[in-house]
Amino acid sequence: KLYNQVQDLKGSIRVYCRVRPFLPGQYNNLSILDHIEEGTITINTLAKNGKGRKSFNFNKAFGPSATQEEVFSDTQPLVRSVLDGYNVCIFAYGQTGSGKTYTMTGPNNLTETSQGVNYRALSDLFEIAEQRKDTFFYDVSVQMIEIYNEQVRDLLTGLSVPDASLVHVSSTSDVIDVMNIGQRNRSVGATALNDRSSRSHSCLTVHVQGRDLTSGNVFRGCMHLVDLAGSERVDKSEVTGDRLKEAQHINKSLSALGDVIASLAQKNSHVPYRNSKLTQLLQDSLGGQAKTLMFVHISPEPDAIGETISTLKFAERVA
Ligand code: ADP
Ligand code: MG
Repeated sequence: KLYNQVQDLKGSIRVYCRVRPFLPGQYNNLSILDHIEEGTITINTLAKNGKGRKSFNFNKAFGPSATQEEVFSDTQPLVRSVLDGYNVCIFAYGQTGSGKTYTMTGPNNLTETSQGVNYRALSDLFEIAEQRKDTFFYDVSVQMIEIYNEQVRDLLTGLSVPDASLVHVSSTSDVIDVMNIGQRNRSVGATALNDRSSRSHSCLTVHVQGRDLTSGNVFRGCMHLVDLAGSERVDKSEVTGDRLKEAQHINKSLSALGDVIASLAQKNSHVPYRNSKLTQLLQDSLGGQAKTLMFVHISPEPDAIGETISTLKFAERVA
């Protein structure tokens, strides 16, 4: 029996796996998902004849029927720690179409129940801040950036600048407004056939400044919510020019992220933050006292099995 100990997680790095459901109209007789038991996902590596099972362990595993609410409830403690002055990074990793944006933001036709981690996290922060208002004063502001070909673009102004603008927010509806602006700017430059969003990383950063009303002490926490570029490998013999350049940048930055998280998990003294824009930008929120959560997404489709296995291997490395 092949058994991969994906996780015996040290420190404050956790990895959750989410298997998305088949989409309406998809052929769904065969799922690569064999079963989920607590944090263990067992997949059929050869779904066509049912042979070849492989298990992977995570801190949590969510099956196709897991709701956005269930997923968030296991994320909430991490989110709340920002109000106590911790730095937090939450990543969505996986091939294009595996459900990263669904987890972080939600589907295109967003409803209250389908809202992803981003919206729920911000609503939760405002709710807790309100509950604590007699003891703490909180100031919350957000930034939204995109990293494309190792270049950073401010999604709230549309400009490419070294320091992205901070926008003060004081309610969930402010956040929705800001995210709508970011989403609109993100789609600028994308065409139907050339959806750039799957080949760029987008990051919503929440800065929290808290003041203890009794002592007057001020502290800061920060949370990065990152929807990563699609992790699929691009066949180098088939792409050239801009597509090849994009693929190389994505490959480089995802492996740099993997290297950083893996070396933090192993408690290495040298952590290679400088190898990509992404890890440079997140340096203060990766390692040290910071908390990291990686959502690893996989698709149930047999056709995606190759990418699914490399996604699970990535998860194994960072754990
Ligand atoms: P990615 O961002 O990784 O490219 P998406 O989040 O866009 O993938 O998901 C691809 C499609 O699958 C979208 O239509 C999305 O709404 C749908 N989808 C993804 N995850 C789920 C889920 N857990 N439940 C229902 N639909 C999902
Ligand atoms: Mg997406």
